[in-house]
Amino acid sequence: MKLRVALASLVIALVGSGAAWLTVWPILKLLLGAPHGVSAIVDPGIQKWQQLLPFLVGLDFVVASAAVFLVLYLTVGVPLARVEAAIDQVASENVTTVSSGGPLVSRVNQALRRLSAELLAERERSEAQVAELERRNAELVRLQAELVAADRLATVGKLASGVAHEVGNPLAGILGYLSIIRMRARGNEELGAVIDRIEHEVQRIDQIVRALLELGRPSRGKAQPVDVRPVIDSCVQLLSAGREFREVTVRVEAPQSLWLRAESGPLSQVLVNLLINAAQAMGGKGQVTVRAGEDGAGGYIAVEDEGPGLAPDVLPRLFEPFFTTKPAGQGTGLGLAVSRHLLSQFEGTLEAGNRPTGGAVFTITLPKP
Ligand code: ADP
Repeated sequence: MKLRVALASLVIALVGSGAAWLTVWPILKLLLGAPHGVSAIVDPGIQKWQQLLPFLVGLDFVVASAAVFLVLYLTVGVPLARVEAAIDQVASENVTTVSSGGPLVSRVNQALRRLSAELLAERERSEAQVAELERRNAELVRLQAELVAADRLATVGKLASGVAHEVGNPLAGILGYLSIIRMRARGNEELGAVIDRIEHEVQRIDQIVRALLELGRPSRGKAQPVDVRPVIDSCVQLLSAGREFREVTVRVEAPQSLWLRAESGPLSQVLVNLLINAAQAMGGKGQVTVRAGEDGAGGYIAVEDEGPGLAPDVLPRLFEPFFTTKPAGQGTGLGLAVSRHLLSQFEGTLEAGNRPTGGAVFTITLPKP
């Protein structure tokens, strides 16, 4: 800033003193020598002043420069420097500490503060819009994944209805023949063990066929107000006698009565599936909590476990039919797909996530009756 003011001062002083000298010089010349002719000048005083003239011109220039510099610096340089500092403060977003100075600076400060407040508000608006866009984008991605899964479900469902009867009837036959062989093999332990294994595998095929049939089944349209608390209690009671729940405690945190719109049969099927998954994820040891309650639009039932939770690569694929991480022969990968399908038939949803404290949480939502 000082350099710029100094340069401006030099230029102004040069122009000023140059113009002054141009005006004064003819008069001086006249006074010092013209009436007598230059050669006629004999007065030593006048001669001395003639010799001093260049020095005086220089001195005049220096004094004028210094004076202009001082005036410019105080009246323009200092306020401008303050304005520059204020702009720098705004640029660095430290808008609350813009220093105040003379009237010019304070006016500029006011304008800058107003501008920066508007900019900040604009930035907040933009950030909110970006966040909203990101949220909608994520929602779109989720919906797209759901559509793909639903499409796959529909295809699987159609296929299943086609073959389920064909497979189901022979299966029923095999199970019948097995019970005949079992009667004949009474007393033969080795054969009995083989029959047990065959029956176990056939039961598994039967389960898969039933699950596939479930996927193809259209809505029964029997959704009605259901008190979900007794449904939860009976599922917990049913499972707690089972092998998988020997070292698992199930805690129910729900109001004594909670009326929601659902079908109690499919809802029980979903709950049983979620509870078994939870117990298996914890390796058959730990606590499962079933929380239920009302929220704005309806009600929820959340099944929380203390297992390893859901890995980021597993989460987006959880509801795909046939997706399983369980060892071959143990998981069908149909449980969650069927559960979501069943719930969707009475406007229920099923979402999965991780608890902040570790473990997975599966949340069912149901509409109000
Ligand atoms: P399946 O149990 O036959 O594998 P599901 O559709 O019920 O089929 O589950 C799909 C996959 O979701 C499981 O293989 C498992 O990886 C994961 N999963 C389900 N429930 C849990 C849970 N509570 N904790 C961790 N992973 C789970």
